[in-house]
Amino acid sequence: MEINKFKLTKEDFIFLQGYLLSWGFVKITRRDFAKVFRRLDLQMPRRRTDRETGFMYTNNGYTVIVWTSYIEDEEKWRDTGTDYAWVLIKEGDFVKYFAKPLIRMKSMILKLLRYAWVSKWRVDNRHLCPKCDAYMDIGKRHDRRGYYHICKNTDKHEDGLPFTYGWDHNLPPLAQEFVNIRREYTRQYKERNKRLGLTPKPIATIRKRAIVNKPENLV
Ligand SMILES: [Zn+2]
Repeated sequence: MEINKFKLTKEDFIFLQGYLLSWGFVKITRRDFAKVFRRLDLQMPRRRTDRETGFMYTNNGYTVIVWTSYIEDEEKWRDTGTDYAWVLIKEGDFVKYFAKPLIRMKSMILKLLRYAWVSKWRVDNRHLCPKCDAYMDIGKRHDRRGYYHICKNTDKHEDGLPFTYGWDHNLPPLAQEFVNIRREYTRQYKERNKRLGLTPKPIATIRKRAIVNKPENLV
């Protein structure tokens, strides 16, 4: 298979980490993990002994999380099949946005950095509602991949209606270009699957969620 022709190295991780740290991301520590586990009394769907390195960046009430699929303790990338890299945006314990998971490819590092940068931009530039000045929330359409910004403070809006912006509202041109290219690839990928009669399961639904035994501690 094409994706197995090369290997990402420790240097690739150091390169990735260097950029993330320079942008203000911090590494998610063992203590951070332990605290979340204790607070929510988490029960993992499958036992994993290794711990992949993640980074986070918080601003305006949102946190960008980058899961790298690199296991620092062992100085190796996760095995093929469990090696997806992720970028997501959370508000407290709740995931508001999932970027398309990235499979292990030589280009994964750059794609992950671009997604991280764009997501950081979205968090740094979290929109205020022009009608009531509140932070706008991230909404999600039924077709899974469609996001938008919304303010539902309808009692504070003169017209009594929710206010929305498109997901890419005010996105800088270079970021917009990257986002457009990624969407075009996704479109082509879907078209190809349709042509071949394939219906791959979206990774986000395959991924098993941890069980929260103390939901009263969710924030
Ligand atoms: Zn509003």
